[in-house]
Amino acid sequence: MISLEPSEKQIALQEHFRRLAVKRLRPRSILIDAAKPAGVDPDYRALIAEENLNAFLIPEEYGGKSLDWMSLAILFEELGAGCAGFAAVYAQTFHSIAALLIGGSEEQKKRFFPLLLPPGGHMASFCVTEEKSGSNTSSFSTVFSRKGRSFLLNGAKEPIINAGQSRFYVVWANEEGARNRAGISAFLIPAGTEGLDFGPYHDKPGFRAAPTAAVHFRNVRIPEGNMIGPAGSGYLLLMQILDWGRALGAAIAVGLARTAIEEAVRFAKQRVILKRPIIRNQSIAFMLADLVTELEAARALVWRACRLIDLGKDHTVASSMAKLYAGELAVRAATEGLLILGQSGFKRPSLMDKLHRDAQAFRIAEGTSHVQKLIISGQL
Ligand SMILES: Cc1cc2nc3c(=O)[nH]c(=O)nc-3n(C[C@H](O)[C@H](O)[C@H](O)COP(=O)(O)OP(=O)(O)OC[C@H]3O[C@@H](n4cnc5c(N)ncnc54)[C@H](O)[C@@H]3O)c2cc1C
Repeated sequence: MISLEPSEKQIALQEHFRRLAVKRLRPRSILIDAAKPAGVDPDYRALIAEENLNAFLIPEEYGGKSLDWMSLAILFEELGAGCAGFAAVYAQTFHSIAALLIGGSEEQKKRFFPLLLPPGGHMASFCVTEEKSGSNTSSFSTVFSRKGRSFLLNGAKEPIINAGQSRFYVVWANEEGARNRAGISAFLIPAGTEGLDFGPYHDKPGFRAAPTAAVHFRNVRIPEGNMIGPAGSGYLLLMQILDWGRALGAAIAVGLARTAIEEAVRFAKQRVILKRPIIRNQSIAFMLADLVTELEAARALVWRACRLIDLGKDHTVASSMAKLYAGELAVRAATEGLLILGQSGFKRPSLMDKLHRDAQAFRIAEGTSHVQKLIISGQL
């Protein structure tokens, strides 16, 4: 039996980041949402530094103070409740740290982890998706070839969060002539490397606080020591990172769903139609009853996946279930939320409108809902 009771320390962490999300992230997120696409908001970068957020993912021997997974689930839910886009900026750095934790050598960890610690609010990018390969991660058009004691990389990745602002990029590519899983390797490319170039920021309906752009590689020379793990180990590494990442992506979705539900409850209690608050209509009350029940279920799935990771047990299906359920719930909660708010929510700026647009990304990023169903059904 897995215990899902948070400890006192975890409750303190939750309360701290809940306050921060409400006071600092939420008001700022509305402004960023309405602004033109730009890099990561300076206030958000300051927050990464002030709270030393990246340290929560880096082990102590490398200057961090890493948290257990249950605590990470709590942290990511609170950040998602404040601003899902900010949580995604942080999550991409997390993915890059995860690549080093799982496959990196001692020397690589010592070289790259300090790049993400204060001073400065630093990010990293996780570069997998290409224009022609999103769900299919078993072959890439981005290719590398060996040139003596280094590799030459060519291709492009898109959409990539934190592109142009990251301190380093973790990039997946196929060895030239080997367009299959066995030919995939992952590389660490520091910012400023010659041949590394970026497209303009995308204008997208949601997750506007998580800037995305294309990353281009034109004859990028990568020293031998920047390949993560042995040649050909990239596909397995990617699957392991995604198994972790989906649990945390799900936690962000739970946070967004919670905010949508809280906003709908607040509105339903204060909106008076025909002399009574609309929450006293069964149609509204039952919608909210369903949503809060589903929220508890989604959080339980996330915490279970994270507990399994903490226990070192198989968590692939648990992470996919959490991601599928929480991602779909985020969309449902914001959609029902819009209905409950009526015209009050159907305008800009409006928190519910923003949540509704942000929520859509949970069905797509880090493996679509279809892909999660493929993973879950594949184990039946
Ligand atoms: C806001 C945002 C930020 C992102 N940031 C990053 C990032 O930083 N780094 C990065 O590498 N990627 C990033 N991505 C990309 C993301 O991971 C991909 O969008 C995702 O993997 C899906 O790929 P695709 O969008 O190309 O869809 P496609 O793979 O083209 O799929 C299109 C549709 O077909 C369905 N489909 C595909 N194959 C199957 C199948 N076998 N069975 C059933 N249905 C199928 C999909 O579910 C989907 O509905 C980001 C995406 C978003 C939306």
